[in-house]
Amino acid sequence: MARMSDRVVIPLLDERKPARPGSIAVPVPAQGLAATGLLADALGRPLRDLRISVTDRCNFRCSYCMPKEVFDHYHQFLPQADLLSFEEITRLASIFAAHGVRKLRLTGGEPLLRRHLERLIEMLAALRTPEGEPLDLTLTTNGSLLTKKAQALKDAGLQRITVSLDGLDDAVFQRMNDVGFPVAEVLKGIETAQAVGLGPIKVNMVVKRGVNEDQILPMARYFRDNYGGSVVLRFIEYMDVGATNGWRMDEVLPSRELLELLRQDFELLQLDPSAPGETAERWGYADGRGEIGLISSVTQAFCGDCNRARLSTEGKLYTCLFAHQGHDLRALLRPAAGAAISDAQIGAALAGLWGRRDDRYSQLRAAETPSTGSDAPRRVEMHYIGG
Ligand code: SF4
Repeated sequence: MARMSDRVVIPLLDERKPARPGSIAVPVPAQGLAATGLLADALGRPLRDLRISVTDRCNFRCSYCMPKEVFDHYHQFLPQADLLSFEEITRLASIFAAHGVRKLRLTGGEPLLRRHLERLIEMLAALRTPEGEPLDLTLTTNGSLLTKKAQALKDAGLQRITVSLDGLDDAVFQRMNDVGFPVAEVLKGIETAQAVGLGPIKVNMVVKRGVNEDQILPMARYFRDNYGGSVVLRFIEYMDVGATNGWRMDEVLPSRELLELLRQDFELLQLDPSAPGETAERWGYADGRGEIGLISSVTQAFCGDCNRARLSTEGKLYTCLFAHQGHDLRALLRPAAGAAISDAQIGAALAGLWGRRDDRYSQLRAAETPSTGSDAPRRVEMHYIGG
């Protein structure tokens, strides 16, 4: 019989566990940069839209974002000290606004889980562009806490919201959120949000073939019949975000197919984009009772005018949803004792890293299926930087 000391010990590595993405140190420029109003990346794209993740926690376990098998009881979320404080987030947002950002979207995880979020909203609502205009301030939520929080969010200065909702059938919805959360609560949250004046409301539905495609028509009917133009339902192609959802191309329902399905029941007319860099293709009901959006993130890449940057919960800046590494801005906010870094220097650092940006993952994916094997660098998980 082999003795303990003769045995070879093979270390176990749980490949399912999401590694914390690496970070890139941001050099501190000696010279600051005054508010320029506009930055362009290496492909000529401006920086307009900043998505700020305020927590990496969520109370749902949707299989495409935070699958239960991976984000289980043992998963270690970020400790409080690693999170950017509200003051740090506001400072960065004001620097981004000085350099072209016009829209701020709070995301998570589930942003409404961050305590005293209303205080952050008040602080962000007070920011102004160099021209003295308020920023477009919005938030993406799973809607579970909206009934309770909608009024406080509105009072704090939030203008509008986007709710993620993948189906109306309670069994399908509960299967997708994987924590048994009832759809009626989310619908009540949307009703409350509309009643307090958070609008226009957008509802984002991720469509996964074979899972919730039978919810497309009921969702379209529900929001058209109950809200007309005041809620815009947007259908999103299921994406290969992160490294834990086991994405496969045959699970994607292309927007063209989805449009054909909708056209069996509704007459739809294509509408002009409402803003440059808009991700959704707009289609209006011919009778004027509202519109829907198609976000074809897989089949029709929209990298060409992507003007979005993402700030993670711990202050890393990602220049693409599919990035492998983030730029450590928190280190600039918390320099070593006695080494203060000015807003103008952070602005110059931001200009430098945005100027080098050449991300266009979705365009490249359209050309070739990316490697998802263990040799591929790990992409950042969506719950960590928002969708
Ligand atoms: S893949 Fe990256 S660059 Fe392309 S649209 Fe998405 S976030 Fe923007």
